[in-house]
Amino acid sequence: MNLEYKREMPTARVVKEMYPVPEALAEVKAENDKRIQSIFLNESDKFLLVIGPCSADREDSVIEYITKLRDVQDKVADKIVIVPRIYTNKPRTTGEGYKGMLHQPDPEAAPDMLKGLIAIRKVHLRALTETGFSCADEMLYPHNHPYLSDLLSYVAVGARSVENQTHRLTASGLDIPVGMKNPTGGMVSVMMNAINAARHGHTFVYSGWEVKSKGNPMSHGILRGYTHKQGSSAPNYHYEDLRFVYEMYMKSQLENPAIIVDTNHANSGKRFDEQPRIAKEVLHSMRLSKDIASMVKGLMVESYLVDGCQVPGGGVYGQSITDPCLGWEKTERMIYEIAELL
Ligand code: PEP
Ligand code: MN
Repeated sequence: MNLEYKREMPTARVVKEMYPVPEALAEVKAENDKRIQSIFLNESDKFLLVIGPCSADREDSVIEYITKLRDVQDKVADKIVIVPRIYTNKPRTTGEGYKGMLHQPDPEAAPDMLKGLIAIRKVHLRALTETGFSCADEMLYPHNHPYLSDLLSYVAVGARSVENQTHRLTASGLDIPVGMKNPTGGMVSVMMNAINAARHGHTFVYSGWEVKSKGNPMSHGILRGYTHKQGSSAPNYHYEDLRFVYEMYMKSQLENPAIIVDTNHANSGKRFDEQPRIAKEVLHSMRLSKDIASMVKGLMVESYLVDGCQVPGGGVYGQSITDPCLGWEKTERMIYEIAELL
């Protein structure tokens, strides 16, 4: 094999013991979980906002951003539940270069997986400790989920992973909501199959064990737009798209149809400042159709301290090093506008 076994990594149990979640904070997470889960189980009509930078590049700016979100969350708590995005293993789309905090805890230095594993646990733990938020991450590597399982309240399966059996089976064994993105080519049936697979129980091999999952009733779809063969992007957040997905849910006979609309990626064509407009259009569609209103549970928004994204190696504090994000002032305004419209 063309693989060098460099060093054995500590198990999730060992890393959890090194950086444990204190009991009082575990209770805070359990309350967050309940609040978020009740949205997907149709026991609450609050609106979910999964919001934050495309990738969590450094701890200080991410924590500063989430601390600002805390203030806003407290002001809109009667209508909105915020789950910050702390995406710790976000690679560049091209497959080359930066792979996220897990691989490069220091974006300028060489990859160090042990430092990375500890860094991602520390940033999620610090977010919970300082702000009371248990956050969202992308489940890019299903076998790494146990390192963060006591800290996360939401995970997404990305557009490039959603057809993968390991992701679907792992999602079926989680007790938090898992959002299945539509694949980059836009096939809604692929997303529906992923939701369906995750809702059922399975027996499979995980972390060297034969395991049995019960099925996850909170698996749901995330519409993120799609890319044409020629490379141009197309949205799937309009009224007709939402109706179409609703019909798919009806045919599937899955209980509690649930969708999150991603306002960036191929829905905005990465024109990050279109996100507030897209958010408002989705809310408008919800007002026009009871079916859509019952299915759309919230939005996923890419937002950070500074508008846009950096030029490679730019080193701008609080500006995205992957997809362009909505800056803080516009984000704050958008959340208050959403709350007004709900
Ligand atoms: C993301 O959420 O930042 C992302 C890259 O998502 P997708 O898998 O939809 O491209
Ligand atoms: Mn992104």
